[in-house]
Amino acid sequence: MKIYNTLTRKNEEFKALLDKAVTFYSCGPTVYDHQTIGNLRTYVLYDTLRRVLEAEGLEVKHVMNITDVGHLTSDGDEGEDKLEKGAKSSGKTVWEVAGENTEEFKRNLEQLNVSLPRLAKATDFIEQQIAMVQTLLDKGFAYQTDQAIYFDVSKLDSYGRLTGQKLTDKEVGARAEVVVDENKRHPQDFALWFFLVGRFANHEMNWASPWGQGFPGWHLECSAIVHSTLGDPIDIHSGAVDLIGTHHTNEMAQTEAAYGNSLANYWVHGEHLLVDGRRMGKSLGNFYTIKDVTDKGYEPLSLRLLYLQAHYRTQLNFTWRALSAAEAHLKNLQAWADLKFQSHLGHKNRAADVYGWALDKIKVELNNDLNTPQALSELSKLVALAEHEGVDTQKLQPFLEQIDRLFGLRLAGRQDIGEVAKSLIAQRESARLTKDWVKADQLRRQLSDQGIEINDTEHGPIWSRSARQRPGE
Ligand code: AMP
Ligand code: ZN
Repeated sequence: MKIYNTLTRKNEEFKALLDKAVTFYSCGPTVYDHQTIGNLRTYVLYDTLRRVLEAEGLEVKHVMNITDVGHLTSDGDEGEDKLEKGAKSSGKTVWEVAGENTEEFKRNLEQLNVSLPRLAKATDFIEQQIAMVQTLLDKGFAYQTDQAIYFDVSKLDSYGRLTGQKLTDKEVGARAEVVVDENKRHPQDFALWFFLVGRFANHEMNWASPWGQGFPGWHLECSAIVHSTLGDPIDIHSGAVDLIGTHHTNEMAQTEAAYGNSLANYWVHGEHLLVDGRRMGKSLGNFYTIKDVTDKGYEPLSLRLLYLQAHYRTQLNFTWRALSAAEAHLKNLQAWADLKFQSHLGHKNRAADVYGWALDKIKVELNNDLNTPQALSELSKLVALAEHEGVDTQKLQPFLEQIDRLFGLRLAGRQDIGEVAKSLIAQRESARLTKDWVKADQLRRQLSDQGIEINDTEHGPIWSRSARQRPGE
């Protein structure tokens, strides 16, 4: 399998450290608010990567963090704590807000059929984070002021190698509003541990540490969680592109400095979901949630398909029109999956194994840097073939199971329409054959009221489920 590695800026053949298992860590949600459908695009990327690796026979050990400790409103160390801001506006404690949003996040993953990784809450790893700060202090990579303990970027030669930007380039680009701690040695130094002073004097979440009461900086948790759950280096580290410059750069620096190991061999970054041409973001206030999507009557899996229709390294501009098109695509796939219940189509006995071919082609595309749009187009070719040549219904179900393992579109587990509806279809067919058009039409209407449409084809009547009306359409 080939995957684009941000670290080397190349499409590389993926080789895991172990023979049969892959260690995979991905940056998870900050839970001070709902997940946006932008965030969800990235979780579907993680899930797709995992599915494709599993299809290659690898066991994937996937860990994702939950940032429930609250972090600052922007990538730098400046700004207000996001979790406290969220709590303040809803009259709840920070713990309540974090808990509720974590549960909602899990439900969102379920709706999108994203298999649940091992979730690691930052607040469950405080001890490990403190130990890491201690190691960095002991090794001379960190220093303390009265506001915080900072990582000293000038001490690590490899600092910034993920972006290839030299420290001096970054220094020039450093923004004026970056935290004013006059004892900070270098503008790019970042906090490992904050003390309860100044604007953080009343920070709700805080813990005892050898240096005083405080809370961890937001890059620290990922390095500490990787170290204590998977061990460094891991095979793959992933996130969306906004994390490259600061968060991943700093995670990498912490691990290299503390443990002398690189953090990950492959760095996989997904592009953003945009809205009106701008990144969809919680802090930007221009976001939709999955609830907005289902309130409009869309299936959550239409959103999953929308994501898969674009390559993960291209930006995707969200529009309702694009979502409608994805839903039509999904309905088409579902109608095809439903053919497995229509056994009168199953007599086609093909010499060639079209399903085997299609599966191979799909896997070739996915193994090429997760080319989901091409993989889907291979699937569409097979669906189109069914329209022309009928379908081998017996082989369809096992094929759908394979397809679901890769795309997660829940095509295999669909239910039959039931005996009553099937008997109505049979009655209508006899009416039609005896040219009793009135009865045939009346039966068609009866079926339609139950959400079933009939299409008379050369292979016999084929039923499909009617598209639902969405409110406001
Ligand atoms: P956050 O909860 O904001 O820390 O983000 C959780 C994950 O979503 C991280 O991997 C981010 O890089 C990613 N992310 C944030 N905004 C977007 C977006 N508009 N499109 C895709 N991924 C995003
Ligand atoms: Zn992270």
